[in-house]
Amino acid sequence: MTGYPLLLDITHRRVVVVGGGQVAARRAQGLVDAGAEVVVVAPEVVDELRVDGVVVVERGFAPTDLDGAWLAVACTDVEAVNAAVAEAARARQIFCVRADAAAEGTARTPAVARLGEVTVAVNGGDDPGRARALRDAVAAALEAGDLPVRAHRRTAGGSVALVGGGPGDPELITVRGRRVVADADVVVVDRLAPRQLLDGLPDDVEVIDCGKSAHRHNLTQDEINAVLVARARAGLRVVRLKGGDPFVFGRGGEEWLACLAAGVPVTVVPGISSALAAPALAGIPLTHRGVAADFTVVSGHLDPGRPAEEGVDWPGLAANAGTLVILMAMDRLGLIADALIANGRPAGTPAAVVHRAASEEERVVRARLDGIDAAAREAGVGAPAVVVVGAVVDVLGGR
Ligand code: SAH
Repeated sequence: MTGYPLLLDITHRRVVVVGGGQVAARRAQGLVDAGAEVVVVAPEVVDELRVDGVVVVERGFAPTDLDGAWLAVACTDVEAVNAAVAEAARARQIFCVRADAAAEGTARTPAVARLGEVTVAVNGGDDPGRARALRDAVAAALEAGDLPVRAHRRTAGGSVALVGGGPGDPELITVRGRRVVADADVVVVDRLAPRQLLDGLPDDVEVIDCGKSAHRHNLTQDEINAVLVARARAGLRVVRLKGGDPFVFGRGGEEWLACLAAGVPVTVVPGISSALAAPALAGIPLTHRGVAADFTVVSGHLDPGRPAEEGVDWPGLAANAGTLVILMAMDRLGLIADALIANGRPAGTPAAVVHRAASEEERVVRARLDGIDAAAREAGVGAPAVVVVGAVVDVLGGR
């Protein structure tokens, strides 16, 4: 059968389901969800059929049950009853779906996925397994933003989503992050975000690039906040795509407050912070039984000579035995190592620099704490990098 695909509007239209088992329950639920007036005819029915929106007639099927129906669904486990339903439907020129033998009916139910305003319906040539597999594959690709379509229509009024892109590899963003990016009208992107995702965006998506090099940002934070608010106020879906997690040294909190102050709806999609991803990818567990039971993530961008109340409490961190994870440390790594040693961390504590984790340029340098700065310089490894200090650096034996 070639068949003619249709999407039926069955709102408030009577559909008769014959059968009282699990198959009938699934079909009835789908029909209720689509707004149909569902009548189930069967001598006995499972509890799942005793739900709002379903009228149960507890007896055997009679052809006149189909009077006034728009569609019949035969799903008993008795072939003769299903055949009788199909025959009664034919006599009344009503389409009939047969769950037991699709080819014996006059209509087929496809495998369905719904995403936003998109409905995917697949017929697998009467092979339901094939239909479901293809439906699942299309739904997953849509959900992940792998297909060049947007599943969600623009709603009235714009919005801002602060999306954590993970450490840089496009595979390390979350499924939700990926979908939100795929649905964006505007993407305001950072240097360390997974920029490869931009290649897949439709041509009409505006891309605003906020940072091309470490020390030269082409937009100030105030300008970024202003752009987010202005585009959202123009009714656009704005995605602020950032490296790692938006709320870990990402200034996401400031952007959140700017949106709030402007009355612009704002949401956050968490991301895998480089503080977690870089050590993991370098084979360094941040905690390990018997070695370290805690870790601290700090920024190394301030001079470690400053008093604790102005920056990081290096003396306190030096005295603690836990793992240290330091971001933005490469400009002052020597000073930081000295401060830690001066305040009590043993000079021989294992340390590592993980440069550009999750990218093809990823490099890992390991050395004692007192030699880590020199080792990184010698290897030509600078920012962006995550520095890890603690016995965990060597616990898996290095990579
Ligand atoms: N919000 C980000 C951090 C932004 S601060 C996050 O959660 O990861 C920028 C610093 O993050 C860099 O200086 C560097 O220390 C670190 N960083 C970000 N991505 C990195 C990567 N792929 N490899 C190593 N370090 C990275």
